[in-house]
Amino acid sequence: MTFSLHGIGVSGGYAIGRAQLYSHARLEAPHYLLHPEHVEAEVARFTEAVESVRAELLALQTHIPGGAPPELSAFIEVHALILSDSMLSEVPKRRIREQRCNAEWALAQQTEALIAQFESIEDEYLRERRHDVRQVADKVLKSLMGHPGHAPLKTVDEGDSILVAHDLSPSDMVLFKRHPFAGFITDLGGTTSHTAILARSLGLPSVMALHNARALIQEGDWLIVDGIAGVVVVEPDQAILDEYRLRRNQWLLEQKKLRRIKSSPSTTLDGIDITLMANIDLPLDVPHARAENVAGIGLFRSEFLFLNRDDLPGEDEQFEAYREVARGMAPKPVVIRTLDVGADKSVRWMQQDSINPALGLRAIRLCLAEPQIFLTQVRALLRASHYGKVRILLPMLASLSELDQALALIAAARGSLRVQDIPFDEHIAVGGMIEIPAAALAAEWFARKLDFLSLGTNDLIQYTLAIDRTDDAVAHLYDPLHPAVLGLIDHTLRVGARLGKPVSVCGEMAGDPRLTRLLLGLGLTVFSMHPAHVLAVKQQVMRSHIGELTPLARKLLRAGQPERIQELLARINQ
Ligand code: PEP
Ligand code: MG
Repeated sequence: MTFSLHGIGVSGGYAIGRAQLYSHARLEAPHYLLHPEHVEAEVARFTEAVESVRAELLALQTHIPGGAPPELSAFIEVHALILSDSMLSEVPKRRIREQRCNAEWALAQQTEALIAQFESIEDEYLRERRHDVRQVADKVLKSLMGHPGHAPLKTVDEGDSILVAHDLSPSDMVLFKRHPFAGFITDLGGTTSHTAILARSLGLPSVMALHNARALIQEGDWLIVDGIAGVVVVEPDQAILDEYRLRRNQWLLEQKKLRRIKSSPSTTLDGIDITLMANIDLPLDVPHARAENVAGIGLFRSEFLFLNRDDLPGEDEQFEAYREVARGMAPKPVVIRTLDVGADKSVRWMQQDSINPALGLRAIRLCLAEPQIFLTQVRALLRASHYGKVRILLPMLASLSELDQALALIAAARGSLRVQDIPFDEHIAVGGMIEIPAAALAAEWFARKLDFLSLGTNDLIQYTLAIDRTDDAVAHLYDPLHPAVLGLIDHTLRVGARLGKPVSVCGEMAGDPRLTRLLLGLGLTVFSMHPAHVLAVKQQVMRSHIGELTPLARKLLRAGQPERIQELLARINQ
């Protein structure tokens, strides 16, 4: 039966494919087919992994350190029992033989099936045991990953699958870079959540906030994802499929046409050069940024190096990553933001028990509470600055004392490198993100101590309007055109102009072509966005005359009523 679901389109384009219901384990596990001759060796590899985890648990049980909590022994016993259950230790072998798939995949599938069974148990105590199942399965998975088997006969291509999830974390999205899905849909999420931001950076058509897609869609259902209108069609009939194939082809054609302006300068009709830069999450995004001919990296969200792992990346590992980006873009500038974890970007080593994490120990607050983490990162950034044009960006500044502390730590890192004779750029620029209303209102004080400012409009809107950017229930209230938001942006831009300090926008507003002309009219000249949006924004820049846009933008700033604002925006975009 055909039916459609409506949500928020967070990433443009159309995808047509079969539903694959989400499982974190599946995303972490590689998936490939085996040569028939290697199937029994794969079963043996799985048995070995189970045995090594059993030995590990036994060793732990017999060497419980004095002073350990008394529950530890019972806890290990539960894990040993789970491991011995044939559902976990035997059924995956059957899956390997039947599907001729690798052991990691067989285990991941079986774990998900088991967890689904646990989730339907009414008794809360028993239901909670699903976490133990996952932990035991993760141990076996880790052991398997450390001992690879025979080379795959064929890697399974997920290019025509659409991932269907209740919710996805930014860490899951990072794993998507390894699993090329055609698109994805989720029940929860807001348009500027980091999950949505990553979806855009992957260029995957996606729809979020569908509420009950996960419950209504079955594995293998045919789906159409319309990331533009925010619609998902389930089990479409032939006529609908034909219609969407047509729309997809037209959309692809438009994208192709846009490529013609790739090497054109981003200059307005009245001759003002506009700097278009790229936001990236990992060094492997550099080629995408370069392909769009950007003027540099305006925001490298360094925290993605810290996700999906149990430990912290050390100084050398970070240095390598930052140098790769700096070298890859040289001589163009690369703005690297210091660690911004917390809120929706949780890391395993950080205990996140805050009731309201978006207002908690996030970003620079966390770094100042854990100065060693910050110092390690700053040393790595400074070392990388020797190999390209690196700039440091501090996230989520609210008070000047935070800025002073961060600058003192940067000075300490510089001093330690000098003592060790390690070269770095002595003139490295340090900037701050303006993404908390207090910082926008006090922009002058921040600008005086910093080399540049960058408006993080995603958080600026979240904190100005008191709207959780990840919560789909309030997603309709998330409004970049709210007069208070525009007032804060305008104020910051004016402060920057007056003090001669460059101000950029690196939030999602910078990549929305419907807002380009308004921002130009407000005086913005540096935009940083996902590489995928650069050409659409450039197209707007090239047809704009700032002299004509300025009075209209100022008029819009003075308008209060949403209808009037929309009317003026339409005039600006005419
Ligand atoms: C922002 O808040 O606008 C921003 C660019 O940072 P992030 O989206 O990573 O919070
Ligand atoms: Mg932010």
